[in-house]
This record gives sequence, C-alpha cells and structure tokens, in this order.
Amino acid sequence: MIRVRIKQIIRQWQGVFVTAPAIAGLVVAGSLTGVFQQMEWSAFDLALRQRPQEAPDPRLVIVTISESDIQRFKSWPLSDAILAQTLKKIEQQKPRAIGLDLYRDLPVEPGYQQLAQVFQNTSILFGIEKVIGNSVDASPILKQQNRVALADLILDADGKVRRALLSVKLENGQTRLSLGTALALKYLEADGIGLQRANRSTPNALQLGKATFIPFQENDGSYVRADNGGYQILLNYRGEIKNFQTVSLSDVVENRIPAGLMRDRIVLIGSTAESLNDHFQTPYSSSLSSHPLPMPGVVIHANIASQILSAALNGRPLLQILSDPQEWLWILFWSFVGASIGWKLLKKNPFRQNIVSLAILTVVAIVLPGSVLVGLTYLAFLGGWWLPVIAPLVAMSLSVLMIQGYRTSELQRQASLDSLTQVANRRYFNEYIEQQWYRQVETKQPLSVILCDVDHFKLYNDTYGHLAGDNCLQQVAKALGRAVRSNDLVARYGGEEFVIVLPNTNNETALQIAERINFQVSALHIVHAKSLVSDRVTLSCGVATIIPNFTSSLPKLIATADEALYEAKQKGRNRAIGRSIMQ
Ligand code: GH3
Ligand code: MG
Ligand code: MG
Repeated sequence: MIRVRIKQIIRQWQGVFVTAPAIAGLVVAGSLTGVFQQMEWSAFDLALRQRPQEAPDPRLVIVTISESDIQRFKSWPLSDAILAQTLKKIEQQKPRAIGLDLYRDLPVEPGYQQLAQVFQNTSILFGIEKVIGNSVDASPILKQQNRVALADLILDADGKVRRALLSVKLENGQTRLSLGTALALKYLEADGIGLQRANRSTPNALQLGKATFIPFQENDGSYVRADNGGYQILLNYRGEIKNFQTVSLSDVVENRIPAGLMRDRIVLIGSTAESLNDHFQTPYSSSLSSHPLPMPGVVIHANIASQILSAALNGRPLLQILSDPQEWLWILFWSFVGASIGWKLLKKNPFRQNIVSLAILTVVAIVLPGSVLVGLTYLAFLGGWWLPVIAPLVAMSLSVLMIQGYRTSELQRQASLDSLTQVANRRYFNEYIEQQWYRQVETKQPLSVILCDVDHFKLYNDTYGHLAGDNCLQQVAKALGRAVRSNDLVARYGGEEFVIVLPNTNNETALQIAERINFQVSALHIVHAKSLVSDRVTLSCGVATIIPNFTSSLPKLIATADEALYEAKQKGRNRAIGRSIMQ
C-alpha cells in the first residue's frame, strides 16, 4: 500500500525528481570552476555592510598619523625623535601592548639613539616587517628582541582583504605572527589566556580562550583555489575606522588625551594619510552610493586584533563555512524548492494561463523563494555562518524555469498526441503531411500514405464491449509502430482508422510495409469470434503514392488511399491494396 503510494508520488513529481538533481549538479560543477566566486564575494560584502554595527572595541586605541599630523611636524617619515617621544607618552599610560605599524628598518635622524633606546626598553612594543612579495626588513633592534610581527595582508583576486593572516612559517622554520595576532596574544597574556591545540579532529585547529581557530583552506566558502599560505582565517570585520577609538599623533605628543585612555589596552600606531598609500580595498570599500573608500592598513590590523580578542574573550563568532558536501546539499535543497514550486504553481489550470499571467507567475515563483533564501543566508551570516547565496539562487531559478519549459513542452506534446493510443493525432498528422508535401515538391521524391481500418470493428465492440474495443485499438497502434520504419509517422486518423505517412517511399515499398502491418496486427492474436474474415482482429489497408508537384494536390493523395482502402474492403478485407497517382 505504502509502496504504491510512494510510486504514485514519484510519478506525479517525476519532473521535480529529475530536474532538481540535474540542475544542482550543473550549478555545483559551475561553482567548482569559480563562476560564482566574485558574485558570492559581493554578496558577502553587502551582508557585512548591512549588518548592524557593533560598539567600538573598548580594548583598542588607534593612534592615527593623518595628513594634518604630517603638516604639523613638517616631515615624512617622522623623525626618530618624534616617534620616540610618542612611544614614551603612550608607554606612560601603561597599555598592554603597542603595535607600531610603520616600517623603521633605517634610522631617520634626528633622534635615532633615542628611538633605539625606546625600542630596547619597551617590552610590550611590536614593530613590523613584510615577508610576502616585496619584503621590507624590521628594525634590527626589535628583531634582536624578537618583537617583530608581519604587516602582510592577504588580498583576494579582486584586490580586497577578506582574510586575516594569523601567522607565517619563515624559511628558517620560525613562525612569525601577524601584527594583529601578536598584539592580541600579548593582550591575552595578562588574562592568562594562550594558544593551545584544539580538541578537534581538524588538523591545526587552535584554541584560544573561547575561540577555536580552523585554518582557511583553498576552497573554503565561495573561494576556489585561493592561496592558503600561512595560517589564515576569514576576517570578521568589526567595522571601519569610525568604529574604533582613535586619537591623532599630535594629540598624543601634545598631551591632549585623557590620562587613562590607553591603560590596559592595545595601542596601534599607523598612518591614515591618503598620501602615504597604506590603504587597502575591503568589503566596506564598495558601496553602491558612494565612492569606494579604501581602509588604512592599521585599521585592518586593528580589526584582526579585535576579532581575535572578541572571539577569545566574548565568544563573538568567527566566520564559519559549510563543508563541500554540505554546500552541495544546500544547493540541491534550493533546486528542489525551485522545482517543486514551479511544478505546483505552473500545474494549476494551464487553460486559464495566458503569456502575461505565466510570466508573472514565473517571476513570483522565483522572487518569493529567492527572498526567503536571501533572508535565511543573511540571518545565518548574523550568526557567523557564511553560506553560499548566489549558487543556490541560480539553482533555484534555473529549476523554476526548467520545470516551466518542461511543462510547456509537455503540453505541446499532449496537444499533438492521441490520448487513447499515444500516437500522433489528426491535428498533428495534418500539419506534418502538409510540411512533408512541400518539402517533397522540391526534392521530387515519392510520398506514400497508408490508410488502415480495423475490419468489422463494430462487431468487435458489440461482442466484447467498448472497453475491450479501446484496448484493441491501443494494441493495434503499438503493432503499427513496430511495423513501420523510424522515419514513418503513425497517426490516428479517427475512430478505428489509422494513417501512416511514408516520406521518400515508392508504392512498392509502401505496399510491403502495409503487408508488414497486416502481419503484425494478425500476430497480436486478438480473438474476434464474430469477424467474418478471420478468427482474430485484422486490418484493411489502402496505399497511395505520388510525386508531389505544383499541379497535384494533397487531398487527392488521401482520397486515393481511401479508394484503395475501399477496394481492400470490397475484395474481402485483411489485405492491402496499392495505387500510384500518375501525372
Ligand atoms: P468495416 O470492416 O467495414 O470497417 O466494419 P466496421 O464495423 O469496422 O466499420 P464501422 O465504421 O461500421 O464501425 C466502426 C466502429 O468503430 C464504430 C465505432 O463504435 C467504433 N469506434 C470508433 N472509435 C472507437 C473508439 O475509440 N473506441 C471503441 N471502442 N470503438 C470505436
Ligand atoms: Mg472498420
Ligand atoms: Mg471505419
């Protein structure tokens, strides 16, 4: 009983069960080649910009070096003396860590001795170096003290920073932390929190307080064959520069900042001046309404430090992604949604649908579930999950369109089919033979038709009932199909009469095929006790052939076949008679 029901459902939803997996497979294949990568990134960027802004991270202060600071001190790079003075003032406020996001590989007099001393004595100070691409050395003093971090950022193929580099293994085997990571770890030291191997099966998973880090892989999320060198994670931005507490370098040097401002915090020093070119494209850079604004490097480092701290201390979500099979299932699911909705919606009363209502229905069938999909992925994003949205959207839409196309073609097929015998109907026959006629006027090849009529079918009906009669017609139609060649068309002409169109066939061959038809029908052994010509159901066939030209006519061909059929009936039925029309 249940098996029957399941079978029934599968038959009813056949189109859905075929379409959804096929489209999903196609879309998954497409996403593996990377066609959706850029669009998925854009969707990610949009979600990031749209989500509610978080409060500024209270654990960070950025000391900015802006255009006006450069004006104020009238030099760039800032002299070692100014830098030394700044660092001293910051240190007096007792922060937990200081990050100097400026390259200081060479002395900038005056004041090198002074700065060297500050570098030497400030144990919470970290400087930077660059190791990827064009490398830049660190200050030799900081290097000696092992207080150098990486300034390198990871750019996606579209030039935007969406990933955070946590560390890199150097050629000498040493692990070098990135600036944001080094500062965050230094900060957490005071809380007694340090990196540990995570209790997970994933290789290289690390635990830091409440946070579990899993290294980025080249095909994670919507990435396709990205560079996964070093230890990277997806960057879950806190926000733009306005979302961080900032003070200017001049304010620090000239004592215009509150006394406890930097106490127990991370202080980052970096340039925000446009002219210094330390700016990067980020998800925040593209807004549809405004000019794309790049983000100062120091703000990106602040974001990385903030992400690590918030995750470790507050359990703020790191960005999570689905595994590949989960992603495929997600796409398959939306394929099914699209296909099912398309199937259900478009199945409704095809006779009342005109082209406009069909178009509206299709749009609704795509927009409604599409909105749900977008809404769901956005909610998931708020919870820290980055799900594909473009690929499933494409899969869903394609499924709706595919189902609609399938149904349209199905309706078309139904319109040309005889419902009882499943061969072409009279309407289709008329169209087809006319087409064939004109084609052969040009090729000057003979065109044949065979008209068949079941012998004593009225008696058959009377004896065995109308239902048995129907069944008999179905079997005869199948036998006709077996008797003809692949290029011949079998159609139900009406009642118990069938017609076969045989393109490029002379009378002799057509007659042979008519005899094959008689044989096949006879071979069915459908008992017909009341028949006056045989003990089983038989056919009479009239065959007519013509070489179509402009003076001959199609009705003449049919009429001749009809005459031949009449002759076959006259001569005792269960036979075929052929006639050629000569001109
Ligand atoms: P003949 O050998 O001269 O062709 O005799 P016949 O009885 O076959 O010819 P006639 O035209 O008198 O009868 C045709 C019968 O076919 C009448 C009609 O009830 C029956 N018929 C027509 N269409 C269908 C159908 O779709 N189903 C069934 N069961 N019978 C049909
Ligand atoms: Mg008949
Ligand atoms: Mg008849």
